[in-house]
Amino acid sequence: MEPGQLDILVVDDDAGDRKALCRALQASGTARDIVETADIQSALAACDGRTFDCAIVDYRMPGYDGLHGVTALHARFPFMPIVMATSHGDEVVATEALKRGAADYIPKANIRGASIRRVLDSAVEKAALRREVARRQEELEKFAAVLVHDLRAPITAIRAFARYIDKGLQAETPDRETIAGQCRQIVECGRRMDALINALYEYTKADADVGFELVDMRAVLAEARSNLQDVIERRQARVEHGPLPTVLGNLPQLSELMQNLIGNGLKYCEMPAPLIEIQARPEPDNVWRFAVRDNGIGIAEKHRQRIFEPFERLHGTGKYEGSGLGLAICKKIVERHGGAIWCEGNDGAGSTFVFTLRGPPAQ
Ligand code: ADP
Repeated sequence: MEPGQLDILVVDDDAGDRKALCRALQASGTARDIVETADIQSALAACDGRTFDCAIVDYRMPGYDGLHGVTALHARFPFMPIVMATSHGDEVVATEALKRGAADYIPKANIRGASIRRVLDSAVEKAALRREVARRQEELEKFAAVLVHDLRAPITAIRAFARYIDKGLQAETPDRETIAGQCRQIVECGRRMDALINALYEYTKADADVGFELVDMRAVLAEARSNLQDVIERRQARVEHGPLPTVLGNLPQLSELMQNLIGNGLKYCEMPAPLIEIQARPEPDNVWRFAVRDNGIGIAEKHRQRIFEPFERLHGTGKYEGSGLGLAICKKIVERHGGAIWCEGNDGAGSTFVFTLRGPPAQ
């Protein structure tokens, strides 16, 4: 952690102890700002008004002891790292504080620059980990819910068609035409399930710890184009680009990114001849900004953020087929590459997807 990075809340009823703590925090070089409160109620009120990177809570306080304080703060602000400051003889209590959500504890006798810095660093790290675990848990729950729904729909349809077929075959004169149609529906349902499972696989793979190397974005585009060749020809689409740079990244992931963006540009386009234009331009700090512009149906401004979340689709399955994972995969890939991705509206028809990547390290 860089020096002077943390906004810290100090909760201690003893003014002398607070002063000593603040001095140690300043000496440790971790504090950007310190707010002092003498009891838990005012600590809760302070946290309502702003965000703290860390709270240090004294165990021994009148009325509302530190353990209840930890419980109350943790319940309201589950991702704020809390460190309990203990006095001699409070060590057993410190263990209880950890159970109630404190990230760590520090004996007051040990409050010196270096040790407090270590404790705060590890508390902040633990809290970040906790937040990440919670984020993934939430993502998993959403995944499970959508998967159950999206996979159950074709399975239900397959079972229904199988029953119709069975019944149809038992008829005195089976209607071969109808039965053949129902068989085709079953094949189609299977194909949709397969596509969903593939998208899920790609989504989980986008998190993989892949290696980075110098990647020529012209090669990335060539691969994406070749994977989309069928649809480009079928839609009589043009995919044009300006000069493209070399970046630091992973070729298969960047191809997947390009393929998803171009593929969407073609899919969500009603024009007789879709046009995709890809531009890159350098930005400060060795960053490249890429724009993938289409002449499709466009996206209303209010939806431009949520479409990057898994399973967020603006259209039902009827008109445009998809899993709702394509842009979520793009976001994961770009963020793994240290960049950002967003969507902009065009002056005319269509939308532009913009993302940033890092260039090769300066020599
Ligand atoms: P899908 O599998 O549905 O295409 P995506 O995650 O790729 O999933 O996209 C999410 C939603 O964003 C799509 O369902 C569509 O409504 C919208 N969208 C994505 N790209 C475009 C685009 N180029 N033009 C218009 N709408 C788009």
